[in-house]
Amino acid sequence: MIDVFMNTYHRLPVTFAKGEGTWLFDINGKKYLDFSSGIAVNCLGHAYPPLVRAIAEQAAKFSHVCNYYQSDVSAAFAEKLVEACAAGGMKKLFLANSGAEANEGACKIARKYSLKKYGPGRHRIVSLRGSFHGRTITTLSATGQEKFHRDFGPFTEGFSFIPGGDIEALDKALDQSAVAGLLIEAVQGESGIIPQTQEYIEAAARLCAERDILLMFDEIQCGMGRTGTFLAFEQYRLADGRPLKADIVTLAKGLCGGVPAGAVLAGEKVMDVFESGDHGSTFGGNPLAAAAGLVILKTVSDPAFLREISQKGERIISTIKSWNHAKIENIRGRGLMLGIDIKADAWPILEAAINRAGSGRPGLLLLSAGPKTLRLLPPYTISGAEIDEGLHILKDILNG
Ligand SMILES: *Cc1c(COP(=O)(O)O)cnc(C)c1O
Repeated sequence: MIDVFMNTYHRLPVTFAKGEGTWLFDINGKKYLDFSSGIAVNCLGHAYPPLVRAIAEQAAKFSHVCNYYQSDVSAAFAEKLVEACAAGGMKKLFLANSGAEANEGACKIARKYSLKKYGPGRHRIVSLRGSFHGRTITTLSATGQEKFHRDFGPFTEGFSFIPGGDIEALDKALDQSAVAGLLIEAVQGESGIIPQTQEYIEAAARLCAERDILLMFDEIQCGMGRTGTFLAFEQYRLADGRPLKADIVTLAKGLCGGVPAGAVLAGEKVMDVFESGDHGSTFGGNPLAAAAGLVILKTVSDPAFLREISQKGERIISTIKSWNHAKIENIRGRGLMLGIDIKADAWPILEAAINRAGSGRPGLLLLSAGPKTLRLLPPYTISGAEIDEGLHILKDILNG
């Protein structure tokens, strides 16, 4: 077969043709239990009937109008999304198509806010080592991982990185005269499922507030209910116990359950920074995505549903801990965003989990996050029996 794709992905040897709930089927009819959700995208599983209906019904009306006009479905989606993020302090939003694009919007808001209030030179955005914020030149500039910084320079200036968890380094880096914003994942995804500590987030919120530096949460992977609260940072508190409010929140991945979409949301302080003509996106707020997003929001903002996400995560953690498996060093995470450090390379495990499929036996779709960490991001709709079946496969594979 002639491969016309550019060689950007290290692909596993499988081509999918169909999905249903937590299951995917390849072109040869082999089946796979999906513990990856397309990297936290298909949060309600594959071909979720209400989602399929909503997209089909919208496609039969219209699938796009340009942003010179408003559409009923995009307006309804925007309103519900702001409502779902209200506890985190969000008041207005801009709709985009991807995570990188949402983070670009966040950086633009931070820079303009600072420029208008303090004049030029106070444009730096601080982020964490190990962070991942996207693949465009600017979002790579914000990504604190050396391996992404080869070959593509010069990068956008005005970004710097600090080690996570180090409050002294944070205090030093948040220079009031140079820094516009702090961009942070409450639970880092790509670098191995690393939740920030309460002390660290508390300090970040305090220092940002004292210095008028924007507190920006990249919830692209950990948001949309993934950790058991609608936004992952809702699990942190201010020093006095009050809930934390962000200045900016970015979302994408699970936002529309598999239809491409991103959003940058803003709190009171920065919600009117963008003026007419400042920003835009042809596909942003696309009606098909919005119709899908309304289904996701309706399900995922229900507190009982969010509690189930946490309980399912706890079931996975307690099962894996009960194995006392010699190859497992550690399991951590929140809700259905879990990292397992193993005493082996992760990639061969991913391959073995795929290759196991055949003769009626299912395969298992796993992710890695770093060379020796397995990452589990199952759909929220996964059943207890499916969790047990997937973990049984995982144990089998670890046993070699
Ligand atoms: C995936 C991801 C992004 C980038 O999103 P794209 O849609 O691939 O541009 C940014 N930040 C985090 C935390 C992510 O997990």
